[in-house]
Amino acid sequence: MVISVASGKGGTGKTTIAVNLALSINKEVQFLDCDAEEPNAHIFLKPKIKETKKVYIPIPEIDEEKCTYCGRCREVCAYNVIAVIGGTDGKKGNILVFSNLCHGCGSCSYFCPESAIKEVNKEIGEIEIGTVESIQFIHGRLNIGEAMAPPVIREIKKHLNPTRTVIIDAPPGTSCPVVETIKKSDFCVLVTEPTPFGLNDLTLAVEVLRKLKIRFGVVINRSDLGDEKTDKYCKEQNIPILMRIPFKKEIAVAYSKGESIVKTFPEYKKDFEELFNKIKDGKPN
Ligand code: SF4
Ligand code: SF4
Repeated sequence: MVISVASGKGGTGKTTIAVNLALSINKEVQFLDCDAEEPNAHIFLKPKIKETKKVYIPIPEIDEEKCTYCGRCREVCAYNVIAVIGGTDGKKGNILVFSNLCHGCGSCSYFCPESAIKEVNKEIGEIEIGTVESIQFIHGRLNIGEAMAPPVIREIKKHLNPTRTVIIDAPPGTSCPVVETIKKSDFCVLVTEPTPFGLNDLTLAVEVLRKLKIRFGVVINRSDLGDEKTDKYCKEQNIPILMRIPFKKEIAVAYSKGESIVKTFPEYKKDFEELFNKIKDGKPN
């Protein structure tokens, strides 16, 4: 079973839920941290890293000897990576590639009529593979200044082990990296907090999950702070609330020291086991 843990908004405690779920269930677990812009599950799980793999994407390199500045590559690029300035009065034109925006789709080289585009590999990040106790652990990290997390996420997910219960820590938000992470999950846990911002971003995440037809439920973190609107929304939308975690100073202190809840307070383990049982038995939304 593949369970992704996501949140419409950062800072809701998504990684805390993913990590403590992984440490609580009596199963062979694989943990994938797909928050490639800011992976932090390793701080709590403390895996022993055994292997590192670089992640590359193919970006265009233009041979200006062959290029006629026709602009076809600019037209086919959906991400505005290429700027072409045609030559005038016998003067050479100019072509610029903003490679940080490139998705490595290959369309520009495919459509170039002069075969003036060669694809060259550009390193954009890396993934690390390791273990912690019986948990298989993989996370990815995007290089500083790079914007394309999905290729790193795809590389992490290539190692997904379907013989295990897979828990995926997704990036926050509802954009491409999140969709790349959660697609094909059997269930998605949406972690939120009962505040106006939390509710706004929860509604956006719910829309994405309904489009992707993924079963989901909600965990309300710091459930005793904020207001009742999140409860009301979940009730109206027939969304199961799987768990509530009230604000507790001792949990915040453990978090600040990089410690998991269940290692510091084993009495919470049964709550996460119960969460897993609800996920396992969850009905379609
Ligand atoms: S499509 Fe090819 S020839 Fe045309 S501007 Fe781009 S690189 Fe140059
Ligand atoms: S590889 Fe795709 S995204 Fe990158 S510049 Fe070419 S068309 Fe644009």
